[in-house]
Amino acid sequence: MSAPTTVKGLDQAPTSHAGLLAWVRDVAALTTPDRVVWCDGSDDEWKSLTDQLVDAGVLTRLNAEKRPNSFWARTDPTDVARVEERTFICSVDESDAGPTNNWMAPDEMKRVMTELYRGCMRGRTLYVIPFCMGPLTAEQPMFGVELTDSPYVVASMRIMTRMGSAVLERMGDDADFVPCLHSVGAPLEPGEADVAWPCNETKYISHFPETREIWSFGSGYGGNSLLGKKCFSLRIASAMGRDEGWLAEHMLILKLTSPQRKVYYVAAAFPSACGKTNLAMLEPTIPGWKVETLGDDIAWMRFGEDGRLYAVNPEYGLFGVAPGTDWRTNPNAMRTLAKGNSVYTNVALTDDGDIWWEGMGEPPAHLTDWKGRDWTPDSDEPSSHPNSRFCTPINQCPILAPEYEDPKGVPIDAILFGGRRRTTIPLIAEARDWVHGVYMGATLSSETTAAAAGKVGVVRRDPMAMLPFIGYNAGDYFAHWISMGKGVDGDASKLPRVFYVNWFRRGADGRFLWPGFGENSRVLKWVVERIEGTADAVDSPVGKIPTAASLDTDGLDLTEADLEAALRVDADEWRAEIPQVTEWFNRFGDRLPGVLWAELDALKARLGVE
Ligand code: GDP
Ligand code: PGA
Ligand code: MN
Ligand code: MN
Repeated sequence: MSAPTTVKGLDQAPTSHAGLLAWVRDVAALTTPDRVVWCDGSDDEWKSLTDQLVDAGVLTRLNAEKRPNSFWARTDPTDVARVEERTFICSVDESDAGPTNNWMAPDEMKRVMTELYRGCMRGRTLYVIPFCMGPLTAEQPMFGVELTDSPYVVASMRIMTRMGSAVLERMGDDADFVPCLHSVGAPLEPGEADVAWPCNETKYISHFPETREIWSFGSGYGGNSLLGKKCFSLRIASAMGRDEGWLAEHMLILKLTSPQRKVYYVAAAFPSACGKTNLAMLEPTIPGWKVETLGDDIAWMRFGEDGRLYAVNPEYGLFGVAPGTDWRTNPNAMRTLAKGNSVYTNVALTDDGDIWWEGMGEPPAHLTDWKGRDWTPDSDEPSSHPNSRFCTPINQCPILAPEYEDPKGVPIDAILFGGRRRTTIPLIAEARDWVHGVYMGATLSSETTAAAAGKVGVVRRDPMAMLPFIGYNAGDYFAHWISMGKGVDGDASKLPRVFYVNWFRRGADGRFLWPGFGENSRVLKWVVERIEGTADAVDSPVGKIPTAASLDTDGLDLTEADLEAALRVDADEWRAEIPQVTEWFNRFGDRLPGVLWAELDALKARLGVE
């Protein structure tokens, strides 16, 4: 290997961590960037980086009065979402990736990707981003270092993670870290002009669970390029959790305070673009109830010494779906964004330098759409991509719970699983016990959304909303969930209660039956009253359902017929699911825990199938 001592900045490393230095040197030798920059995470760095991105036409600075220190970005129209088809779990043994992941042998993947990486940063800068998922004050902080040739990624990582000098300092000389290598895969010839959104048609999002490494190539889109998020905090962390007895989940975390000032913590797993960010920041419509935010996408959950399950949000920012976000639906997100310091990707730009997207009140007479074209309300296409996103610091959220910075996390009282289903799934059902709850999670289904490349609106199984994020065999993952049900020292009494929700059921005319958003506080209230033993429920074949009287509908503009339809368990609809669930379970062969087959058999008996 040629000694790349000529690469500018390589020798200016503000660390003596030998493993980190050697890795950066090797990557620089392979990818041959023009220079190396060690990111410190300072305001000055942010300013010069965003100035440079504005000069280069990658970012547009927004109106400073309306959106201070905020920016508009447009991606290549082919690079707008996670690419599940190009995402790989490269375990040594194929069976350890399981039937739900793409797999390639680690040495084979490394051979292929090494050739893609060779010279791929030519004409670009290699940024070194030391970051930490979760509080730096944790006993064992979870470090990562991302190497990337995308300044957009650096800016976004500064919002989404704790990063920079403080992290490097805490890492010292020898801390373990997850190496995360990212390139947009678009080298520049001498004198060649750059494009606003460099990327490569060939994409790989690869994970090496045994060696805890991440290699990403060809995409600049958040979920593919901000490697602390899905890649580390879900795929790699889920494999760590399997080995070490904890859970890395695709869950929001919220704090709920009742009128009696009793505090509850709720975690909820919904697939991408199915309501996590909205529920996490919900403004209750029922008097006396208060919601505070802890996280909107990822929860790491471990047992405390008291036998309760504690959750931490490893992230530092919110990467939220823009369309539909509005003062009426999610006022706390609007307040968070009004403070500035945000990056908006693939939304529309107003003529006075503000942003707009579908669902944000009346459309202005003229916009620049996410493809850079003129847009008017008469245009045929939406102004913003359906998976357009805001990226904003979580500490700007006006209802952020103070526990957010506590490395111990918060004790979870209830877990909600949920999906986007037009039919079948009632507004809420309570699991009879932990194993039934795991069954609900393992058979969770949802219509696909624009958050991942591919067809939208297709019903698929999305276990625990983790289908694209489980970093190992999903059958083993179910077994891990079952084993968590033993609690600490066999005491399962302190486990969270499990519920299954659906905000998206529709009437025959296509309307949503349930108003959703702030009104979901009524469902949270029922959850709390079930925990307290004060709310009624009726047994149904699929779980315990609220009686119409037990759900607080005071002041709610909803017909009895719609409420009844939202809560209904239709045995025919559920019988129609049985073949799909059977086929789903069969995919896991003997890796599927037998207790889940037993749950399915019991459900069939209750539904009178066979
Ligand atoms: P996340 O990707 O899981 O965080 O989902 P978001 O909270 O960003 O919501 C995704 C989309 O679903 C947005 O367009 C929201 O406006 C919409 N949404 C969220 N909650 C509800 C709800 O309770 N009812 C309805 N009908 N739509 C919702
Ligand atoms: P989401 O996060 O769950 O908020 O949509 C991004 C993603 O899952 O791709
Ligand atoms: Mn997500
Ligand atoms: Mn979200």
